[in-house]
Amino acid sequence: MQLAADTGLSAFRATVRDFIAERLPPDWASQRRRSTYNAFKPVETMLGWTAILHEAGWSVPHWPVEHGGTGWNPMQQFVFQEELALADAPAQNVQGTHLAGPIVWMFGSDAQKALVLPGIREGRECWAQGFSEPGSGSDLASLRTFAERRGDRYVVNGQKIWTSGAYHSHWGFFLVRTSRHDKPQQGISFLLVPMDSPGMEIRRIPQINGDAHLCEVFLTDVEVPVEYLVGEPGRGWDYAKALLDLERTDSAFIYLTKREIRRLRRMLDLEAEDGTAPRALAPLRLRVARAAAQAAALEWSVLRVLGGEQQPHSMRAVASALKVRGAELQQTITEIQMDILGLKALRRFGREEIEQVDPATDSFWHDEVPGRSFSAVYARAATIYGGTLQVQRSIIAKSAFGL
Ligand SMILES: Cc1cc2nc3c(=O)[nH]c(=O)nc-3n(C[C@H](O)[C@H](O)[C@H](O)COP(=O)(O)OP(=O)(O)OC[C@H]3O[C@@H](n4cnc5c(N)ncnc54)[C@H](O)[C@@H]3O)c2cc1C
Repeated sequence: MQLAADTGLSAFRATVRDFIAERLPPDWASQRRRSTYNAFKPVETMLGWTAILHEAGWSVPHWPVEHGGTGWNPMQQFVFQEELALADAPAQNVQGTHLAGPIVWMFGSDAQKALVLPGIREGRECWAQGFSEPGSGSDLASLRTFAERRGDRYVVNGQKIWTSGAYHSHWGFFLVRTSRHDKPQQGISFLLVPMDSPGMEIRRIPQINGDAHLCEVFLTDVEVPVEYLVGEPGRGWDYAKALLDLERTDSAFIYLTKREIRRLRRMLDLEAEDGTAPRALAPLRLRVARAAAQAAALEWSVLRVLGGEQQPHSMRAVASALKVRGAELQQTITEIQMDILGLKALRRFGREEIEQVDPATDSFWHDEVPGRSFSAVYARAATIYGGTLQVQRSIIAKSAFGL
């Protein structure tokens, strides 16, 4: 493969970079860089950036062209995501763009496509994923939230937990049980639910990093039109699995990892400029070099998948392996960042203080200090969400080695 030498790709990269330079509001990039974006998740920024990308027709490049996708090949999509990450562009609402949208264009009715795809694509509506329940995380098929059909409605009762961003979402896509008689996986259906439906109660969960974007969602006699059930009743489990196949390499977090490696190098330079002795930084430089080599290896593994190289194992096993490596690397990198900053990393910056840090005048509390402890704590979750480390390892053992 000659991916790096593809001149067409270089021209494409330049076009994307120019667009970002022209259209990304600098304060949005600064919020992302200093993790205030993550800490406070203004839905306006998340959706606002999608709306700007939509103006160029780039808000959902991975969707089929007839639903607003770009028709880019996987390498172009990779370059696009990489440039967004390197520019510190705001994250999009992936629950909409990468989960609800694809489920609806793959399995939804024409009426559902007309109802929900434009809102996601144009950055008008935010989505939440209602899968996990207390007692049903890794063992998701044991979920108990029940949707009972009564005439032209489903009446939903139950509880979801860890529902990211539920409090600012317009819609949720929920896995619910519609039958108690089948095998656990077969009685599950996929339901689209307006988050302002009567009977929905959303409670935010305070997190150790000061954020509270995870939520508990209680559903009490929530009425949902039967037309909002995606595909066939009882097939929700199959649809959820189809999503996993779509994710493939995204779960490696490689774009974010590359950005954080670049940040590590900058942090070393800034600390050296501020007078930290080279001898103190030497072991850290070694750890940065090692992490950079691991990131490069992971990137090539991702590129080999994107380049269509024949894989020795099933795609499921490969995707799980990429997720394990990517999540572990995120944790390693944020730990090195904390060690580079030393005690400085412990300072908790409030929102206003973060905005006041000025690298031009303050070399001690420089631009790369705020938000690092937030990111380091949040990185612990990378080996939990989207399927825990242990569960991914079981998948690898089973599907790659038949254990
Ligand atoms: C930041 C964050 C955001 C999230 N966002 C969402 C969201 O938007 N929507 C949503 O639905 N969910 C969300 N989740 C929930 C997430 O999907 C679950 O936390 C995850 O699936 C694990 O489930 P659990 O927390 O119930 O842990 P459990 O399943 O109870 O696992 C506890 C421990 O036991 C281990 N374990 C469990 N089963 C096995 C097994 N068979 N073999 C070996 N070890 C096992 C696990 O690896 C883990 O270490 C989010 C989680 C986090 C941390």
